[in-house]
Amino acid sequence: MHDLSKMRMHTKVVHAGQRPDPETGAVSIPIYQSSTFRFRDADEGADRFAGRDPGHIYTRLGNPTTDHLEEAIALMEGGCGALGAASGMAAVNTVYFALLGQGSHVVATESLYGPSRMVLETEYKRYGVSATFVDSSDAQNVARAMRPETKLVYLETPSNPTLKLTDIRACADIARAGGALLCVDNTFCSPLLQRPLEMGADIVLHSMTKFINGHTDVVAGIVTARDPELFKRLAKVHKNMGGTMDPHQSWLVLRGLRTLALRMEKAQANSLILAPFLENHPKVAWVRYPGLASHPQHALAASQMDGPGAVISFGVRGGLEAGKTVINNVRIPTLAVSLGGIESLIEHPASMTHAGIPQAERKAADITDDLVRLAVGCEDAADLQADLERALDMI
Ligand SMILES: *Cc1c(COP(=O)(O)O)cnc(C)c1O
Repeated sequence: MHDLSKMRMHTKVVHAGQRPDPETGAVSIPIYQSSTFRFRDADEGADRFAGRDPGHIYTRLGNPTTDHLEEAIALMEGGCGALGAASGMAAVNTVYFALLGQGSHVVATESLYGPSRMVLETEYKRYGVSATFVDSSDAQNVARAMRPETKLVYLETPSNPTLKLTDIRACADIARAGGALLCVDNTFCSPLLQRPLEMGADIVLHSMTKFINGHTDVVAGIVTARDPELFKRLAKVHKNMGGTMDPHQSWLVLRGLRTLALRMEKAQANSLILAPFLENHPKVAWVRYPGLASHPQHALAASQMDGPGAVISFGVRGGLEAGKTVINNVRIPTLAVSLGGIESLIEHPASMTHAGIPQAERKAADITDDLVRLAVGCEDAADLQADLERALDMI
């Protein structure tokens, strides 16, 4: 139709990867629930395996429904292609497995999504990979941790659950100067709010379980990259390791993706009401949210993000026990891990999502015992505020 790559993000969210089905004209791409695809004759089969014919072979290697989703995310992130993954962790492991080997080293944000850090410290370590975790909110810490054998700089910004930001442009320069690749886990922002490839990152990945799908009904991930040769390497590992997507899963994520802009706008507007409310509440000790002027990197947020997002971390006066009172008494946010869905969720990272990280390391990463993570959803802001107020009054 038109050159979608020149359109604004909200148009891309609705139309990227959307092509009416060539067979039937169906506007919503059908679920191609087939494990394998017929070749017309022996030559066509040979051409597909040789890559001369782009048609489908077998669903682990590519599926028409998944193609549409991959095309959509690649377009939004500015990648040359994308790889749908069975989960966010399947996407993370595709990147680690493709780029790391015996003797290689990773520099990563210290407060990563728990399992993204734990697999490096346990499983990859068994294969001779070492990792240094740093407070990447100061890019100099990343520069200092670089070694000749560093192959990957791996960032989460905003970090989970501390909501510290990392300067993507500065880290892209550091990685390039050190001969390493830069990968950013962009789950907390979605491509709507932050596009790391445009800032010099080589690889971007998402847990699509969160904002991209947005309906708390699918687990999925995706990887995209800027350079076609790097993308080919990632694709080969991804398809052979087998963490690929099922077409039904792809269809659900595509359906969720189309309302990403609406959902993000609402959840972000709610967050911009709730964060100052919490900050001014006498029972709240501190609030971390990139949209608050008090956030130490408020200016960086404005320069590399198109909005502050919809996750707020805060500590309640009285520490963990007081925090538990809030978590146990709110009625609208559900006590559950995950984020980025239409409904608000609340959790306690030190005993839940980040419990696998030893306490001393958690403390060093500022994942304090009093930290409560609120993933703001699309409910009415006044209802959410009244609910938090009531729960805080119970302390
Ligand atoms: C949830 C999450 C992951 C892992 O994704 P799954 O879909 O649960 O496997 C990775 N990174 C971040 C930042 C996440 O929030």
